[in-house]
Amino acid sequence: MRFFLKTTIFLGRGSLSNISKLISENERVIVFSSKSMEKLGFLKEVINNIENAGGVYETIVGVPPEPTIENVEEILPKVREFKPDTFIAIGGGSVIDVAKAVKVFYDVPDLDFDNVAVFSRFQKVNPLPKLKSKFIAIPSTSGAGSEVSAASVIKKGGTKYTIVSPDLCPDYAILDPRLPENMPKEVARNSGLDVLVHAIEAYVSKVATPFSDAYALRAAKIIFEYLEKSVEGDSEAREMVHYAATMAGIAFLNGRLGLVHAMSHKAAWIGPHGLINAILLPYVMEFNVKKAPERYDSLARELGLKDVEELYLKIVDLNERLGVPRLSDLVDEDEFMERLPEMARKAYEDPLVAFNPVEPSVEEIKEIYLKAFRGE
Ligand code: NAP
Ligand code: FE
Repeated sequence: MRFFLKTTIFLGRGSLSNISKLISENERVIVFSSKSMEKLGFLKEVINNIENAGGVYETIVGVPPEPTIENVEEILPKVREFKPDTFIAIGGGSVIDVAKAVKVFYDVPDLDFDNVAVFSRFQKVNPLPKLKSKFIAIPSTSGAGSEVSAASVIKKGGTKYTIVSPDLCPDYAILDPRLPENMPKEVARNSGLDVLVHAIEAYVSKVATPFSDAYALRAAKIIFEYLEKSVEGDSEAREMVHYAATMAGIAFLNGRLGLVHAMSHKAAWIGPHGLINAILLPYVMEFNVKKAPERYDSLARELGLKDVEELYLKIVDLNERLGVPRLSDLVDEDEFMERLPEMARKAYEDPLVAFNPVEPSVEEIKEIYLKAFRGE
């Protein structure tokens, strides 16, 4: 067993100013920012800190949510021309993941996406060569955990591909609770529910350790206690959920994820990542519990609940209170049915299935998708 964390984490209100300590004279810094971070003045704060430290900067503003390989390819030439020493990404998981992917192809120019991006556990991928540039991640959502994770998740043809390497873990993460205060309700909900899925999947994973459990448990506890208040806009709750997102990131960096993520990555064409995960969670849990109830039971008891049934009901109740829809509310039935066999087959092949407590068949995955579609 092993527990790993590469990232140094700064946290607290105003912690964004730590950037000036991390940049030296004449350091070349490329800053990836989401539109909202520019609009709200946080990009300007990042730039001021780089300038105060004597660094030189260039910005890339407006990375779209759920980014694609085309987005990465479009940005690369600008980054290659600027020749940065350091990457800063300020935004949601989407911005951080694009910056991570661009860093891979900037640091190692001859790499081909298809040779390093994983979509199947039966596919042979080459390990990434050593990466060199420094990376500072500043999450503005409270969800993905990309600020500590070893992954960059990029869409190609409606499916998520993952580039994974310990070298992709950011060197620094800055958790400044002023940033997520501005999240729209839906983003707060979707990304916050992703945190719960990260915590639960990391906890029940085949490779969980007592150390990853500690982070997973604390994150799950915070979500159950604070997510509703956070979605309502309560600033203390937003701060707690912001930290929980990174805790869950540390949990899954080590404990990995499972069937919910395997299935949501192949259903990425339907809607936002966190929301699809939240929809699938109770159905995957129902499936896993039948054959492997022990870890769910242990999780329930650690959370102060009676048993796994109570945990299941708590999850369903949270989804209901937060207005999580059924898949059928998001996608047309004909299109869903047409793509279902391929989705189920690809989800079966997903590398994360290897960590799920139960090995599912393609048929069983199809059933789970169908139940989630119909809301049964
Ligand atoms: P996101 O897609 O990064 O952001 C969603 C939306 O929220 C964006 O349109 C953004 O708008 C807006 N937004 C973000 N922060 C805001 C703020 N503070 N105030 C106002 N608006 C804000 O959401 P996410 O849930 O963080 O990331 C999802 C992505 O992460 C998915 O692609 C998923 O696959 C990936 N993911 C990665 C990992 C990993 O380990 N790498 C793990 C799980 C998920 P603007 O662009 O206009 O600012
Ligand atoms: Fe996720």
